[in-house]
Amino acid sequence: METRTEKLPTRTTAVIGAGPYGLSVAAHLLASDVPTMAFGRPMESWREMPSRMYLKSVWSASSLADPDAAFSLDRYCRGRGVAAKEPIPLDFFIEYGQWFQEKAVPQVDPARVTCVRRRAGGFALGLADGRELEAARVVVAIGVRQFAYWPEFAKDLPASLVSHTGDHVDLSAFRGSSVAVLGAGQSALENAAILSDEGAEVEVIARKPVVWIKRVLYQRGGPVSRLLYPPTDVGPPGLNWLCAAPLFLRRLPVGIRRRIEVRSTRPAGAQWLRPRVDGRIPVTAGTAVVAAYPSAGRLRLELSDGTTREVDHLMLGTGYRPDMRKIPFLDTSLQQDLVQADGFPVLNEWFESTVPGLHFVGGLAGRTFGPICRFVAGARVAAQQVTRRAADLN
Ligand SMILES: Cc1cc2nc3c(=O)[nH]c(=O)nc-3n(C[C@H](O)[C@H](O)[C@H](O)COP(=O)(O)OP(=O)(O)OC[C@H]3O[C@@H](n4cnc5c(N)ncnc54)[C@H](O)[C@@H]3O)c2cc1C
Repeated sequence: METRTEKLPTRTTAVIGAGPYGLSVAAHLLASDVPTMAFGRPMESWREMPSRMYLKSVWSASSLADPDAAFSLDRYCRGRGVAAKEPIPLDFFIEYGQWFQEKAVPQVDPARVTCVRRRAGGFALGLADGRELEAARVVVAIGVRQFAYWPEFAKDLPASLVSHTGDHVDLSAFRGSSVAVLGAGQSALENAAILSDEGAEVEVIARKPVVWIKRVLYQRGGPVSRLLYPPTDVGPPGLNWLCAAPLFLRRLPVGIRRRIEVRSTRPAGAQWLRPRVDGRIPVTAGTAVVAAYPSAGRLRLELSDGTTREVDHLMLGTGYRPDMRKIPFLDTSLQQDLVQADGFPVLNEWFESTVPGLHFVGGLAGRTFGPICRFVAGARVAAQQVTRRAADLN
C-alpha cells in the first residue's frame, strides 16, 4: 500500500481509540485547546457486544467525561427529551456515546492505527489506510477487548466448538444448541441468560459460587446511600471510596493495591439479572473444566468434580487480561523502552509511561490506578491527568 504522509498541527496529541476513555480524554484535551486527533470507530467495542445486553454499572457511574459535565447522561436525557433507563440498555448507551462524540469530539478519524514508533520530538503513527502522521504525544485508549483470556485447554479447539463471550453480537445462532458457559461474572451470567432467552439449552460452570451484588442501602437512596456509595460505585462499601480515589490508591504498596483490586472486581452478577438466571439455568459451581476434546462434532468436557458433559459449544466468560506486550502497533524499540510490570505499563501520576509523551488509559492503567480503570467511571480522572500534562507542556 502506498504510504502518504499527512501533517497534523504541531504539538498534536493523538488519541488511539474512540471508546469512553478515548472520547473523554479527547474532550478534555480539546477543551484545553490542545491540538488533538482521536482515531478509531466511535464506541466500536460496545457495538460488538450482544445487542440485548444491559450495562452492569449504575447511572451515576456511566457518563463519559467532559470538563463541565455538559455532556453527561443526565444532559443527554434532558437535551433529547428521553427518560433515564436503569439498568441502562446497550443500545441506549451506544446512542449516548455517539451523541457525546458529536458534541464533545466532533472530529474523529475512524482509521485504525497500525504502527506507533518514535520520531524526533514525538511519534510517527501509521494508519491502516496507508497514511502516516506525526504527533507530539500519544494516548493509548484501546480498551481490553483484544486481551480476551482463553484458558490453556481451549486454545487449540475449533471456533465452531468454543468461543469467548466477547466474540458475539447475536446469540440467536445457538437456538436449539446445548451451550456450557464458563465463569460467574456478569458477562458469563448475562450471556447465559440471553442464550437461554434465545432457546439454547444452557449450563453455567464456575469455579466459585455465583454471587449477586446486593447494594441494599444503595437502593434506599438518601444521605446514607450517598455516604456509603460514591457515584463511581466500584468496589464494596468501605473499599469503594478508595477505588474512587485512584491518585491516592496509586501511592499504596503494590500488594495492598492488588488485594483491593481482587476484592473489588470479584466475579458477581447484577441484582436485576438474578431472576433471569436463578431457577432457570442450571449452575454447577465449585467446579472447573480441566480438559475439552472434540467428539463426533460436539465437545466433551471433563470437569474437576469427575463428571463429564457433551455440549455443542463452550462459551468462555473468562474475562480479559490486559498485556501491553501484546499491543500489535507499538514498534519493537518502543516496547523495549517501556518499563512494564505483570504486562501493565508502569505509569506516573499523569498516566504517562516510561517513554515520555506516551500515555495509557483504561484497563492498561489498572495496575497503577486500581479497579476504577476497568470501568467508564475511571475516564474522568484519566482525562484530567493526561490533559494537565499535555496542556502544561504544550
Ligand atoms: C461485555 C462487557 C460489558 C461491560 N459493561 C460495563 C458496564 O456496564 N459499565 C462499565 O463501566 N464498564 C463495562 N465494561 C467495561 C468496559 O469495556 C469499559 O468500561 C469501557 O469500555 C472502557 O472504555 P475504553 O475506551 O477503555 O475501551 P473500549 O470501549 O473498548 O474502547 C476502545 C476503543 O479503541 C479502539 N481501538 C483498539 N485498537 C485500535 C487501533 N489500533 N486503532 C484505532 N482504534 C483502536 C476500539 O475499536 C475501541 O473502540 C464492560 C465490558 C464488557 C466486555
